Amino acid sequence: MEIAIPPRMPAVVYRAHKGLVLEEIPVPATGPDGVLVAVAHTGFCGSDHALIKTGGLAEGTILGHEVSGRVAACGEAVSGVAIGQRVIIRPSACGACRDCRSGRPYFCQNARRSIGIGDMPGAFATYVRVLPAMLIPVPDGVDARNAALAEAYAAALHAINTVGRRRGAALVMGGGPIGLALVKLLSLMDFDPIVLSEPVAAKRELGKAFGAQATMDPFKDDTGRRVFERTAGHGFDVVFECSGVAGSVPQALDWVARGGDVCIVSLIFDPATIIPLTINFKEARLTGCYSNTHEENRRILRWMAEGRLDGRPLISHRTNLAQLPQVYRECIDPGQAIKVMVDIGESF
Ligand SMILES: [Zn+2]
Ligand SMILES: [Zn+2]
Repeated sequence: MEIAIPPRMPAVVYRAHKGLVLEEIPVPATGPDGVLVAVAHTGFCGSDHALIKTGGLAEGTILGHEVSGRVAACGEAVSGVAIGQRVIIRPSACGACRDCRSGRPYFCQNARRSIGIGDMPGAFATYVRVLPAMLIPVPDGVDARNAALAEAYAAALHAINTVGRRRGAALVMGGGPIGLALVKLLSLMDFDPIVLSEPVAAKRELGKAFGAQATMDPFKDDTGRRVFERTAGHGFDVVFECSGVAGSVPQALDWVARGGDVCIVSLIFDPATIIPLTINFKEARLTGCYSNTHEENRRILRWMAEGRLDGRPLISHRTNLAQLPQVYRECIDPGQAIKVMVDIGESF
């Protein structure tokens, strides 16, 4: 199968003082070791928003790493990749260093390559150039929007794997995409009860639809009392911090059970004051998690293929490349969206 590739393409590009701008740019050259992917959908990630807000982006950056698409062209040195193959894209790593061998390829300092938030242009464009090691095939029965959401669910699965529990009472603090994905995955395992703490009513509702037995509004409810009511006075076996609010870390330590785990999933830049002896007196473990692995993405795609997991209810808004700059300003920046999915090319 041959796919005709045009010389130029639309892309949403970051420009200093202007933010996201729709431009027409050359389609990247595939190169001998590259693979060109025709993008179907790209999700807008919380980290994309954080990068724009902190002003840490280089002029001309193309964001977008939550991608599904089809292989459109392969370099002559590439083998084992078929034109037309349906794929998602995750960063590659060296596979040989201390971090890679310990199962943490996302810490690889040797050869980590990634699109959108790394060293290569991302997928808010109709084509994206990647490396063969970044490709993860999409199994039959998984549509392109679900596939583009796999990474968000893989991030949530990685949080659960970091803690290493598959059962118990679980509290998720914060109902953004990763917090909600966590609620969904916890409900597929033996966690009970699953409680979501989130101030926005629509997100609490989605949390219930995803399997939370109870929700709390951290600004209105007497959350401390309800935490212990829900857990027969013990507190939660595991607390996932997904709100990004520094003050929720000491709260999580108050609400975790003796011998329980607190996992910081969101990236918190502000200092948090914790009283270390709360950790002694509970023998609680405080940990954090970062990124996810190819294997976790494959696991999510398998669950989607088996019909156990449908990620799509997470999508609150759909848009296209031309509208994305406006949707960013009006919807994403003010925090009104859960997950914005950008429809870019031919879907599957
Ligand atoms: Zn992401
Ligand atoms: Zn490595």
